[in-house]
Amino acid sequence: MQSYCLFAPAKINLHLEIIGDRPDGYHELVMIMQSVSLGDIIRIRANGREEIRLFCNHPQVPLDDTNLAYKAARKMQQEYPNASSREGGIDITIEKNIPVAAGLAGGSTDAAAVLVGVNLLWKLGLTVPELQQIGATLGSDVPFCISGGTALATGRGEKIEPLPDLQNLWVVLAKYESLSVSTPWAYKTYRERYSHQYLSNPEDIQRRAHQIHSGDLVKAISQNNARQIGALLYNDLEKVVLPAYPAVAELIEAFKRKNVLGCIMSGSGPTVFALCESQSQGEEVISQVTAEIDNPDLHCWLTQVCPHGIMTVEN
Ligand code: ATP
Repeated sequence: MQSYCLFAPAKINLHLEIIGDRPDGYHELVMIMQSVSLGDIIRIRANGREEIRLFCNHPQVPLDDTNLAYKAARKMQQEYPNASSREGGIDITIEKNIPVAAGLAGGSTDAAAVLVGVNLLWKLGLTVPELQQIGATLGSDVPFCISGGTALATGRGEKIEPLPDLQNLWVVLAKYESLSVSTPWAYKTYRERYSHQYLSNPEDIQRRAHQIHSGDLVKAISQNNARQIGALLYNDLEKVVLPAYPAVAELIEAFKRKNVLGCIMSGSGPTVFALCESQSQGEEVISQVTAEIDNPDLHCWLTQVCPHGIMTVEN
């Protein structure tokens, strides 16, 4: 029976700015997203039955219909009922390498891989924009996760404009294993504290998105200017997450003292990432910070910027 194996990269946010409220209850965002080479492996195959079955090696990942990968498969069944009844049920196996509830879009990238995989399995011939349109109904980060690389994301994060690929930039990810931050809590708290600053006029919102698109960080990305990119990293959610999680704030400071190019929290955290010029700098920084903090709960990964989203790989 035919099966597909897909690589699903995690993402970090080089820029995350909350600029307003939306009528649908979400926030209006301007983000610069970046895929990294740390990713999950997703295997998809027809199971000759009717149901969707999910398997995963990570105890924190739900195996029921709350899993975003499951939701993605069910969405494809609903959108393409003829193919679904012809091809039958699907087995999805997730090899989880991305830390869970970490602000790295782990669930979203798994869902993106299922959309890409089912498109191949059922030979639907859907284009990337068509898959992204379906993905946007599952979660704001899913469209980016499909195409990946470096991109500007606006709206609630689902409108994607590709930016030039970054090269030779190393990324240290660091997370306290026992710490997780609820994304809805982070955005809700931000709204409570900062909604008086929100832009409400659609033209102002568009203008702000434009400013970022033609701003210094995008220029630095176009020039692959690592030092400048590091200096311009920005995340609005740090304003609410760092005071509530001082250990995360201290972790960022510890990386900054090691002269990394830049260090901020990714998404709603609690993962922080530090940009490094080389593999050896990344390795050295990890050993120095873990020695200084000396807490077995702290986990670090050394990875690289990745120029793509979901990719098929050999089984
Ligand atoms: P984002 O950055 O998009 O907010 P995240 O990286 O912070 O996401 P996830 O790893 O996607 O967070 O996990 C958030 C919650 O979603 C988990 O606590 C878990 O219960 C649930 N979940 C559902 N599907 C998945 C999945 N495929 N992988 C991981 N978690 C999942």
